[in-house]
Order: sequence, then C-alpha cells, then structure tokens
Amino acid sequence: MPRPDSLDPLFRSLRSIKGVGPQLGALLNRFFGGDGEAVALDLLMHMPAGMIDRRRMEGVARTFVGHTATLKLHIDRHHPPPRGKANQPHRVFAHDETGDIQLVYFGGHGGWIERLLPIGEERYVSGTIGFFNGIKQMSHPDYAVEVDKFDTLPLVEPVYPLTQGLSLKALTKLVREVLATLPELPEWIPADRMKQFGWPSFHDAMAAVHTPREPLDGELTGLARMRLAYDEYLAGQLALLIVRSTLISARGISRSFTGEFTAAVTAALPFSLTDGQQLAIDSIRDDLAAPTRMSRLLQGDVGAGKTVVALMAMAAVAESGAQSAMMAPTELLAAQHFRTLAPLAVKAGLGIEMMTGKMPAADRRAALERLASGESHIVVGTHALFQSAVEFHNLGLVVVDEQHRFGVAQRLALTDKGAHADLLVMTATPIPRTLVLTHFGDMAVSTLRDKPRGRQPIDTAVLSIGEYDRVIDRLHARIAQGAQAFWVTPLVEESENLDVISAEDRFAALKSEFGEQVALVHGRMSAATKAEVMERFQNNDVKILVATTVIEVGVDVPNATIMIVEHAERFGLAQLHQLRGRVGRGTQRSACLLLYKGPLSETAAARLETIRTTEDGFLIAERDLELRGQGDLLGTRQSGMPGYHLAVPDVHRHLLDWAHDDAKAILERNKGLDGNEGEAIRTLLYLFRKDLALPLIRAG
Ligand code: ADP
Ligand code: MG
Repeated sequence: MPRPDSLDPLFRSLRSIKGVGPQLGALLNRFFGGDGEAVALDLLMHMPAGMIDRRRMEGVARTFVGHTATLKLHIDRHHPPPRGKANQPHRVFAHDETGDIQLVYFGGHGGWIERLLPIGEERYVSGTIGFFNGIKQMSHPDYAVEVDKFDTLPLVEPVYPLTQGLSLKALTKLVREVLATLPELPEWIPADRMKQFGWPSFHDAMAAVHTPREPLDGELTGLARMRLAYDEYLAGQLALLIVRSTLISARGISRSFTGEFTAAVTAALPFSLTDGQQLAIDSIRDDLAAPTRMSRLLQGDVGAGKTVVALMAMAAVAESGAQSAMMAPTELLAAQHFRTLAPLAVKAGLGIEMMTGKMPAADRRAALERLASGESHIVVGTHALFQSAVEFHNLGLVVVDEQHRFGVAQRLALTDKGAHADLLVMTATPIPRTLVLTHFGDMAVSTLRDKPRGRQPIDTAVLSIGEYDRVIDRLHARIAQGAQAFWVTPLVEESENLDVISAEDRFAALKSEFGEQVALVHGRMSAATKAEVMERFQNNDVKILVATTVIEVGVDVPNATIMIVEHAERFGLAQLHQLRGRVGRGTQRSACLLLYKGPLSETAAARLETIRTTEDGFLIAERDLELRGQGDLLGTRQSGMPGYHLAVPDVHRHLLDWAHDDAKAILERNKGLDGNEGEAIRTLLYLFRKDLALPLIRAG
C-alpha cells in the first residue's frame, strides 16, 4: 500500500528545505536520531517544551521584573561603552508614556544596535524585564521591530528542545516552513469522537502548537495537544491490532495433550511449581487447546521462573505432535536457556537442539535434519534462527524471551515462519498494566508475582566509589569463603568525553588485586569468546566477572552471590533491578553493592534509594514511570519499542482507552482499510511511522 501522495511534502529530506546545508543537515539528522535521513515530518513532530508569553503590553511601569513583556518604546539616546572598556554594555535609553527603561547589549558592536533602534523613532521591543541601579532594563531583547511590523512579532512563542549548534530562531523558522507545506489531510478520527471533544483537525492542531495565539493552544492539556496525543495512541493501537489480528485470525489449532511429556518434566524438576507458575501453565494450556491462535505475554520479575513455564508449554505442544522454538535476544542468553532446559528436556524424553551462528557445519546440518524430520521437539536460538533456512516438521509454538529487545519487524518475521504457530512472549521487565495495553495491545497476560520458595532476600547497599579500598577488602574475604561476584561497569572502553571508568580499566585494576580469578566479558567480544568466558564463570573457574550490561538479562549463575554495579548513578531503575536479579538465585544470602560517583542528581539519588529499599519489581517499574514521567519504561528508543513523541502518558493516558476502542471498531468495520476511511487511516499510520503493519492488511 503506497504512501498517500498528500504526505509527500512531509517526507522530503530536510536538505531540500531552504537554508539547510550539509552542516545543518547533518546536525538535524543526528538531533532527530533516526536510522535514516531526517525528513520534514520530524520537524513537525518536534513538540515545544513550553511557551513564552509576550502578550503583556501594558507599558514600562506595569511590567514585572523577571517576566516577559512587549513594549512600544520611544528611543531617546545611545550610550556605547567608554573607549577601552569593552566589558561595559552598550545602553539604549528609551521610554513610553508610563516610564523609562534601558535596553542593554553586552559585547555588541554599536553599529547594528544603532540601526536596530534609531534615535527619535518608535519600536516594539520584547524580552525579559530586569532591574539594575534603580531602573528597569531589558538585556538583549528577543525582538525589536518597526511599528508597522508588529504582526511579525510572535506574541506567544513556542520554545523547543534544542541542541548545541541549533538556535531557537533557526529551528522555529524551519518548523514554520514545514508547517506552511502541511496540507489538510483526510480526517481519520471518527466523527463522533471529534464532536465529543471538540478537537481541531490535524492541520489546525499542528498550527496551534507551532504558531500558538495563546499559551493554551500549545499546552499539554489544550485541545491541540490532546488531539495529537490521541492520534499517536490511535496509530499505535491500530498497528498493534493489525499485527495481532493477523496472529490470531490465522487459523489456530485446537491441541490435545497426552500428558506424557508434561508429567515427565514435572517429575524431573528438582522443585515444585509455585502457584503463579501453575496458573500460568493452566492459562497457556487453555490457549493451546482453543481453536484460536495463542498470543500471550508471560511477565514476571527476574528469577520468577518463567523458563520452566515455557518448558511446560513446549512439552504440552510436543504432546500434541508439534515443535517449539525458543528465541533469545543474544547468543549468550540462548546458550543459557539451552543449559537450563536441556537436562530437563532430555530426562523427559524430549529432543532439544541449540542453533548458533557459529556451530560447525556438520553439527548444524545434523540439527537441521532432526528439526525437519520432527525427531527434535524443541530448538533454542537467537532470532537469526528465523532468518536462516530452518525447516520445521511442524512448528507449533514460538517462545520469545525478553521481548522488549525485539522490534515489531522481528515479530512480523516470526509470524511468517510458523503460519499457525502459537506465540508466547516472555518479558523480565514487569510492566504496569497501563503500559501492557500501550505496548502489547490486547495480548493476554500471565504474571508471575510470587518468587520461588526459599529465595533469600538480597542485601543492597549504596556506597561512594571513595570507599573502593573497603569494597576490595570485603571482596577478598567473600571470595576466600567461596563466593563469586559480578562487577558491572557502564562502558566497554575508556571514553574521552566521559569521566567514567570502563570495563577494561576496571578489569585491569581488579586483575592486579585478584590475578587470574578475574575475567572480562563485554558486548564487543565475539559470541564464542563471550560464551567461553561465561562458561568459565559458570564452572567457578573464575571468581569475579567484570562485565558490561551484556549480563543484564537472564544470565543464571546460582553461586554468584555478589553484584557490584559501578557508576550506578548512570543506570536506569529497570536496568539496576535487572542487574541485581542476577544474584539471589541460589540458596546463599546475596549482596548487591551500588557504587556511585558523586555528585548525585536528584533523580539519580531517588533511583538508588528506590533500589536500596525494595525488591518488588512492580513497585520499581511504577516508580520508574514516575521518575521518568514520559513512560519510556523500557528504554524504548534503543529497543524498537514504541516511544511517544506527542503523547505524554502522565497527562494523556486516559485517551489511550478511547484510542484502543476506536482502533478496534475501525478494524472491525473496515478490515481491508478500504475507501475514504481506509485512505485516512493509512495516512495516519504513515504519519506515525506505523506503516510496517500495512503489508499485513494486504496479506489478510
Ligand atoms: P526467569 O527466567 O523468570 O528469570 P528462571 O526461569 O531462569 O527465571 O528461574 C530462575 C531460577 O529459579 C532457575 O535456577 C530455576 O531453576 C529456579 N526455579 C524456577 N522455578 C522454581 C520453583 N518453583 N521453585 C524453586 N526454584 C525454581
Ligand atoms: Mg529467564
């Protein structure tokens, strides 16, 4: 489905805009941060962070110090800095009928100031009112225009987030130029919804936000921002529903189970299932038995025991005569899952394979054959698994671990492979209910809230890096008692710009203390090297593992009871929680040490305090939402999850439910997105870059 022509002006490269040369073009590309080249639309979607109100025009005497005002001034005289005193300002004396004021310019050359403000003439001048030596003054007025150019003064001026090298004036000019090319678009919001809220059109909403007449035009609670937030939610919900409906609309399979494999797995488990695990397994079995396709999110805190639930699901699918694939975001995690699953699977009589990019060709061929023949029931690997030529005898279930690392694109690729395969998505980041809807649409959700019995609480402490020597002494003592430790740093290599220790430097320092007991693992190593280092740690040959966040998700080493996070102030709440979850997995009491380098910002201090005082992943997730305020819980930018540009969940969340209902109704009455309504909806999806979902419409 091609992009509607009406959108062409918005998808032209920024370089095609007058005044954008190679340098500014490159700056804007970086600023808007997409993978490709920034386009005009990016400017339009760049929302102001606030408004300057210049409408106060009551005269000098009635201005307030610190406020912005616009004055019609008579220019009396200029007072340039005395010769040789360049540090003194150029002063312009002016008045209106209510009082006197000085306009002050530092470091300026008098010439242009005298041309801007000619003696004996009148000018509209706008800026912030100050007070100095008993007289009102305005230093560096934002605007000074001739009386007949009053119309060019933005009386309410949007203020945009900026970056070095990009001035507000330059950006404002570009935004206005794009706005001028924005056509009236077909309306995609249902008419009754428009009437209910009294919303402006998309065009008028954008005009209100970027060229406001009064501050409310651009405020988050104003009609324009409400409408735009709803647009973004609607686009997101439509895309999710389209993806999901192709997942479940495809004929599912009513599975029946013999009970042999699940019973064997249960018998092989060295523990009994928690109530939460049993409930999740029951729901999954119901889904598998139903004729529709399963699309279920299994969420549970780190260490909650999701892997076992997945194994039970895969065993049930094997009983129904089909195969399962489990995919992890990295080879490291895939290998880890395999190590956990393989002994149990084998004991239960299930055939299980591990597929990696690096495996010898002969092994690979043999594994592929066992999958093609149906001899193997389960395969574990990374998502590369699905891009390669794996043929299944009968793929029935796809389990995706740590979904937040996957983008919509991968999810779509998945559904390609097993035309009727059921889908189980596992996420270790507990997601508050409101966000489940945002990110996963109306996927069914199972939550593991209870931790497996016998888990020890983790002692968490926050310490300044100034205590390094004490930390090392304690570590020596604990290692001598047989403990193993993670030591996590934020960077792999030293960085010129940041005053942050790298994993390599910390590794070198710890090596001088602990010798061969220390090893290093980070994301830039080859998968084989990483796996080899992890194995040495797992086998207890290495006592201290220095790592970057490659170990953040899923790594399971029960004997590791110490987690040290250096520069903890640089990590997000969710990340710290994930990292801490790497310990406390065995029967020994564990400790987590958060080392920070001061001074701490207020939010960094609040983050560390939250982690120190609670282990409840849901509480932490909710607190994270509060602290970030933008609902960017999962670090959406990096992970390909939908992040919001226009909607601010704290303010607009209530619109999400409406958008969800409307999206559902639209797709129910117009599945093929036909006619005028379909055209309007496609326009919306392109505007919010959700057109990835559109090919599915054609397919369905
Ligand atoms: P998650 O994937 O949710 O982070 P895992 O499935 O990796 O958690 O489980 C973490 C650890 O807890 C594993 O060592 C696993 O064997 C163990 N475990 C899982 N379920 C239970 C249970 N019901 N009782 C005791 N231990 C369990
Ligand atoms: Mg796991």
